Amino acid sequence: MESSPPVRQLLFLFGDQLDEHYLSHTGLNREQDAIALLEVAGESTHVLSHVQRTVLFLSAMRHFASSLVKAHWRVHYVRLDDPGNSQSLVTEIGRVVREIQPSQLVFVHPGEWRILDTVIGASEHTGIPYRVETDPHFLTSLRWFDDWASTRRQLRMEHFYRERRRGLGLLVNTDGTPVGGKWNLDSENRRSFDSEPAAPALPRFAPDGITRAVMDAARTTLPQLPGELDGFNWPTTRGEALLALKDFVAYRLVQFGDYQDAMWTGEDTLYHSILSSSLNLKLLRPSEVVDAAIRLFEAGSAPLNAVEGFVRQIVGWREYVRGIYWNSGRSYSSYNTLEADGRLPWFYWTGETDMACMRDALRSVLTRSYGHHIARLMITGNFALIAGVRPSEVAAWYLGMYVDGVEWATLPNVLGMALYADGGHMASKPYAASGNYINRMSNYCNGCLFEVKKRTGEGACPFNTLYWDFMIRHQRRFLRNPRMALAARVVDRLSKSEREDVSRHARWLKESWGVFG
Ligand SMILES: Cc1cc2nc3c(=O)[nH]c(=O)nc-3n(C[C@H](O)[C@H](O)[C@H](O)COP(=O)(O)OP(=O)(O)OC[C@H]3O[C@@H](n4cnc5c(N)ncnc54)[C@H](O)[C@@H]3O)c2cc1C
Ligand code: SF4
Repeated sequence: MESSPPVRQLLFLFGDQLDEHYLSHTGLNREQDAIALLEVAGESTHVLSHVQRTVLFLSAMRHFASSLVKAHWRVHYVRLDDPGNSQSLVTEIGRVVREIQPSQLVFVHPGEWRILDTVIGASEHTGIPYRVETDPHFLTSLRWFDDWASTRRQLRMEHFYRERRRGLGLLVNTDGTPVGGKWNLDSENRRSFDSEPAAPALPRFAPDGITRAVMDAARTTLPQLPGELDGFNWPTTRGEALLALKDFVAYRLVQFGDYQDAMWTGEDTLYHSILSSSLNLKLLRPSEVVDAAIRLFEAGSAPLNAVEGFVRQIVGWREYVRGIYWNSGRSYSSYNTLEADGRLPWFYWTGETDMACMRDALRSVLTRSYGHHIARLMITGNFALIAGVRPSEVAAWYLGMYVDGVEWATLPNVLGMALYADGGHMASKPYAASGNYINRMSNYCNGCLFEVKKRTGEGACPFNTLYWDFMIRHQRRFLRNPRMALAARVVDRLSKSEREDVSRHARWLKESWGVFG
């Protein structure tokens, strides 16, 4: 930092807070105040982070800091490979504060309980006054969510979504009814892909000098990180993120609805927006993303099922999971209603498995640090659910391995949606499925060594064995759930010896994958 007058307020911004709006929101001015950004290895190792996720966060931070310097802000930047870097957030906050000696510390509400606690602890340790401002990025404030939640017995996304759309006036007629007559066009969004029309290629974001320097630093300082770096293709600046948004709206939004639930070998991105990392780093704002989609509908260039489906993801799911995360408190992370205690199979880290569906989903994660929603929920998530893997391990894998991993989004999706670990706080039933579902929604089973029609014995589809084992293990609980009772009663149709076969085969599979022990 230039030698300059004493600093009045020092604003700490984290890697998922890269929006210039935060500066005016926190009342900073260039003459008296300064901004600090810290790269620390500890944030890539507290859960093992995919190398692309780490590079994206750090590169976006460096680009953002450089744009602040160009705009004449005083910026204090700690780099990953700086000699004095202790690589711990709490220590670096203390060190920077001692160096700069500001009169006040300012934070924007972080995206994780752990970081909020770190911020408070580190600030109190300095003895300097501090404040934590609300995060203006989101469309729904945490207070609004808490008030809404306090009036409800069940916190269902669909109720939240309708209320928010009405409140924000999005795709709503003047009399308060939804445009098109229905709030939710999900039933029109379940077409299975059949390799026609081929999904358009994504725009290319070639790594520039800053990104290449971060790649080098990551390779040297954090050689243990999983995943491949070669395919790195993520927007690292607001300009690139806006280009990514434009590309989605121009080439994929029209078919986003139709193929939202589809899966196809080698088609990692289909018609999805691939905007989650830009949104979560705050390079894009949800309002501008939603507006861009609605404009296309209003111009008559995109069907309502596509645009409503997309708006629901942003205004509904994204804001809802954040509300759930903060409203549930710190204990949410330890929920394990189904008492799952298995280890995560080793092939989650290597992709080496004969299950064609898992191999394709894991390849996408390892090479791109990305998987679309249905692959996350119904392949890797479903597998962990029916295999009985402990939620904390699954959550750590998801948080670190996906480029958009931020705890407020990851945890409710993993614990609430994929694993039913919160006992139905979010989802009304577990998303457990056998190979039959995967066969219906994808082409994976055609090219698989396993037989999708077989439940046990040689060559049986492991999703079938694990699904029935899961249903047997939890039958009594599921009989009490109106949405699961029908499926749970089917277990009664299995003979005693069939059940024993299922349990024996499931145990054998899990032993071979290291789920036990
Ligand atoms: C087990 C599991 C873990 C997940 N972990 C994360 C995570 O760490 N971070 C994350 O941003 N999303 C997470 N999701 C939600 C969702 O899968 C991703 O947001 C989405 O796949 C990102 O790809 P996209 O940008 O192409 O999304 P699209 O399919 O194009 O959807 C548009 C946008 O809607 C938002 N969105 C959609 N669904 C959700 C949701 N359920 N929760 C939050 N936002 C949503 C995202 O911002 C996304 O960019 C998870 C889902 C599951 C089932
Ligand atoms: S047969 Fe089973 S394991 Fe193989 S792709 Fe189909 S669902 Fe997956």
